[in-house]
Amino acid sequence: MNASQPPARAPLMSLADAMTDLLGRVEALSATETVATFDADRRVLAQDLVSALQVPPNDNSSMDGYAVRVADVTEPGEVLRVSQRIAAGHAGQPLEPGTCARIFTGAPMPAGADAVVMQEDTIEVGGDIHAVHIQAVPEAGQWVRRAGEDVTRGAVVLARGERLSPSSLGLAASLGLAHLLVNARPRVALFSTGDELVMPGEVPPEAMKPGAIYNSNRFFLRTLLQRMGCEVSDLGIVPDRREATLAALKTAADHHDLILTSGGVSVGEEDHIKPSVQQLGSLDLWQIGMKPGKPFAYGTVRRDGGAGAAAGVACHFIGLPGNPVSSFVTFLLLVRPFLLKLQGVPANRFQALPPATTLPAHFTVARADKRREFLRVRRNAAGGLDLFPNQSSGVLTSAVWGDGLVDNPAGTTIAHGDPVSYISFADLLA
Ligand code: AMP
Ligand code: MG
Repeated sequence: MNASQPPARAPLMSLADAMTDLLGRVEALSATETVATFDADRRVLAQDLVSALQVPPNDNSSMDGYAVRVADVTEPGEVLRVSQRIAAGHAGQPLEPGTCARIFTGAPMPAGADAVVMQEDTIEVGGDIHAVHIQAVPEAGQWVRRAGEDVTRGAVVLARGERLSPSSLGLAASLGLAHLLVNARPRVALFSTGDELVMPGEVPPEAMKPGAIYNSNRFFLRTLLQRMGCEVSDLGIVPDRREATLAALKTAADHHDLILTSGGVSVGEEDHIKPSVQQLGSLDLWQIGMKPGKPFAYGTVRRDGGAGAAAGVACHFIGLPGNPVSSFVTFLLLVRPFLLKLQGVPANRFQALPPATTLPAHFTVARADKRREFLRVRRNAAGGLDLFPNQSSGVLTSAVWGDGLVDNPAGTTIAHGDPVSYISFADLLA
């Protein structure tokens, strides 16, 4: 080796390897709790939901109209006496042959009736006798919703590990469930590092000192954690000093499942995260071959075993880069799947990286990057993708302007019209 040349730097770990490694280090939390169905959006079911009934409970009408016996109406214009009126929530009497029942949407079908004629296909007969002309010959089962067509009794309606959504909460409620057993929320301690950081509201823009910036990461990280169903302890801003960093990590480790930090995870003297985590536990992943987001770290911090701390189990640690776009993108690509697994979503129910769509680039990338790059882009009306002009990792506007990321492999240039892989923020935030 030529002595005048600096030693070659080891290649960075690929994002795919980092994802696999990271997910291999996390186990689902075992604690569960019962919550009101109303409050269970995005929580993860801790048990199979087995239906004790069938939904709907009875055959019922899906139209406002007349319940009939099909055998009574063999040709259009048949006249049937209206023998009863059945509204939703009320049970009728068995339907006598040669009569029909006025019926409304959701009302149970009377015994003997086997079809509904919608009101638009009938004409009321004037005079004293209440009767209707049936204008269209019904088919058996017409406009009838069958008992159990949504849910059969004994069916597993929602499986353990399912992450609940507004529609699944409605489905659980249709089984009569006012409460659900769900996995515990991950308890996450969040802190931002950086002596330059000032909280909005504390200093007005005109009074900001030179070099000071507002803490923006804290706002999206806290919100992202909450959206992922975490219980967040926001520990605020930790100054760029070793003792302060050690103290914050130590305090947080005892009562949290994950410590999430932003900034201070690079290689400068002002970056105290890496040596502090090494001192208090272990640093297992550091730096990833992706852009933005290279300064990503994973490790564990030992617990002192103070009151309430799970003895012997170390607290997970994830250090995100300080640059806002890097912090945002690494959260979506790495922290999100980590939290899904921690909350007990089985591996076959989510993809670490949501599926990409192939779309044409309506832009160019002339210089290939050595790292796999995630470009902030937006779908346009012509069915292609536009690129935000400034892809700097400090420009948070790109993440607001964009509606997703182009996943561009390392060393790849992009010509106008090239097919590229697009992942929407909507999928990454789901
Ligand atoms: P660091 O990773 O600490 O070296 O920070 C990298 C860049 O991100 C610097 O320009 C920081 O000022 C900026 N930065 C770090 N933390 C935050 C934050 N919470 N909000 C906004 N910018 C930040
Ligand atoms: Mg810093």
